[in-house]
Amino acid sequence: TVHDYQASPELLKNKVILVTGAGDGIGRQAALSYAEHGATVILLGRTVSKLESVYDEIIAQESPQPAIIPLDLKGATENHYRDMAATIADQFGKLDGVLHNAGLLGILSPFTHIEKDSWDDIMQVNVTGQFAMTQALIPVMEKSPNASLVFTSSGVGRKGRAFWGPYSVSKFATEGMAQVIADEYEGTKLRTNVINPGATRTAMRAKAYPAEDAKSLKTPKDLMPTYLYLMSDASIPDNGLCFDAQ
Ligand code: NDP
Repeated sequence: TVHDYQASPELLKNKVILVTGAGDGIGRQAALSYAEHGATVILLGRTVSKLESVYDEIIAQESPQPAIIPLDLKGATENHYRDMAATIADQFGKLDGVLHNAGLLGILSPFTHIEKDSWDDIMQVNVTGQFAMTQALIPVMEKSPNASLVFTSSGVGRKGRAFWGPYSVSKFATEGMAQVIADEYEGTKLRTNVINPGATRTAMRAKAYPAEDAKSLKTPKDLMPTYLYLMSDASIPDNGLCFDAQ
């Protein structure tokens, strides 16, 4: 299975891969792992100091020099995404992979207590931002011989769960967006798939389950076989699928 996918050291050599939410949690580990396997990684996130620390670690592990794109998905507009796509095309000539990983959990609450502002923020970051970014990036991805677009869902993106409100709804939307794109680009060089990380030891998980013993959880590193597989040429035949990383 992909859970024990053995990634060769040069698996992602010559690939350019953008990771959103690359400063922390699963995205941080994915960026480090992609770089470790030879990819040039574009680190996108909202907290520059965190991105810089990932950048330094990538240089320290002697991987290809990464790039940093400071961007808050909450405030970004179509112009930001258009400029970003132009810069990537200019600098790298192509984009082989995008890992949509950044996500906002918001506050778990009864449905009747959901505040409109909080709903809007979560939809903006988890759905609308991803939509606009993807729309701008597809033309650069089409310059790659084989491009992989990966969205991040959750167990609550398949089955609604009490109190998970807008986060759950946003993950259903994410899965829908992935299916629409996958179907539209079926048979082309662009493939689109979804990852469900499963319960993982990060700040987001700790926020959702404050009483849980984090040590009982898988770490982002444990998930990397699936994350590497989906960016590698081994997954070229896959399109419109959802992968559980655990
Ligand atoms: P973290 O909260 O640890 O990391 C999320 C990252 O996304 C952070 O680097 C954060 O930036 C960034 N981010 C959040 N909002 C924005 C924004 N507005 N603009 C740009 N970047 C932003 O989460 P995880 O690593 O746990 O989660 C990663 C993905 O996996 C998410 O999509 C999540 O929904 C999903 N997931 C996680 C599970 C888990 O158990 N951990 C389970 C199921 C799904 P900053 O560092 O600045 O806060």
